[in-house]
Amino acid sequence: RAKQRGKNQYVIYSDDMQTKSHEKIKMETSLRRAIDNNEFVLYYQPQIDIKSGDIKGAEALIRWMHPERGLVSPYEFIPLAEETGLIIQMDQWVLRTACMQNKSWQEKGLPPMRVAVNLSSQQFSKEYLAETVKAILEETGLEPKFLELEITETMTMDVEHTIPTLRQLHSLGVQISIDDFGTGYSSLNYLKKFSIDRLKIDQSFVRDIMTNSHDSDIVGTIIAMAHNLGLEVIAEGVEEKDQLRFLQYQKCNEVQGYYFSEPIPAEKFELHFQELQEKVKRKY
Ligand code: C2E
Ligand code: MG
Ligand code: MG
Ligand code: MG
Repeated sequence: RAKQRGKNQYVIYSDDMQTKSHEKIKMETSLRRAIDNNEFVLYYQPQIDIKSGDIKGAEALIRWMHPERGLVSPYEFIPLAEETGLIIQMDQWVLRTACMQNKSWQEKGLPPMRVAVNLSSQQFSKEYLAETVKAILEETGLEPKFLELEITETMTMDVEHTIPTLRQLHSLGVQISIDDFGTGYSSLNYLKKFSIDRLKIDQSFVRDIMTNSHDSDIVGTIIAMAHNLGLEVIAEGVEEKDQLRFLQYQKCNEVQGYYFSEPIPAEKFELHFQELQEKVKRKY
């Protein structure tokens, strides 16, 4: 029986594999097509100063406007884009578009703010990253201090690469933040050596801040430690007023989350900026 089951399992497994690779191939084909047809858009989510309620920045988040499926989440296509190397082209597009957008907002009279862009691990490992960033800043005319690059903790594991890369990027004048902070494990020792400006506390800690004392302790500790290292802290995934209150009490610097606004299309961000800003302040 065991043998039989083993055999059946083998068959099921191999069927599964075939469907999966077939799906993958289909997905890869449509991802390539999407790049050619410009099916990607950036949504922007405001980052808010916890004291004043001023919008200080916006994180650019990619969306795929699939002709049949509608809006597709990056969680669904980023992994495949990374696996196939298509991420390089996508990231390049994101970086240029976000910088261009921010420059255009400034020209239209919006208060100057940072735009934050997520880097992929592939992009972060390229030697010419700093040159690319520099070229895009020159091309778009955006002042470096208005661009923030987000890298994740796991991307910093190769410290031999990370230290000089961050130093190069920082010397361009751009800001750097560590995204999803707390989910990987950075050594405090290295954190001190990285040229970074800001930690982004992962939303998984923020979610249960009011009910789980472990999480609230962790958040409090991250903030205190970051401040000791001279870093700013932004909390992501803020959905409730109580969470905001707790973060204010802990002297977190900025917040980002559905409580204030979901990521929204660029046009909406721009056209309704005043409303958005007023709405955010009313939420305090
Ligand atoms: P992330 O950089 O950590 O972005 C935060 C995610 O949390 C976003 O999901 C955002 O929409 C979502 N979020 C914001 N506020 C809240 C909240 O209050 N509650 C909850 N539950 N979620 C909230 P999104 O846009 O689906 O992006 C997912 C991930 O995909 C990002 O995580 C980032 O790692 C990656 N990603 C997004 N855009 C890009 C991109 O342009 N390039 C690269 N390489 N990765 C990207
Ligand atoms: Mg991010
Ligand atoms: Mg994050
Ligand atoms: Mg995340």
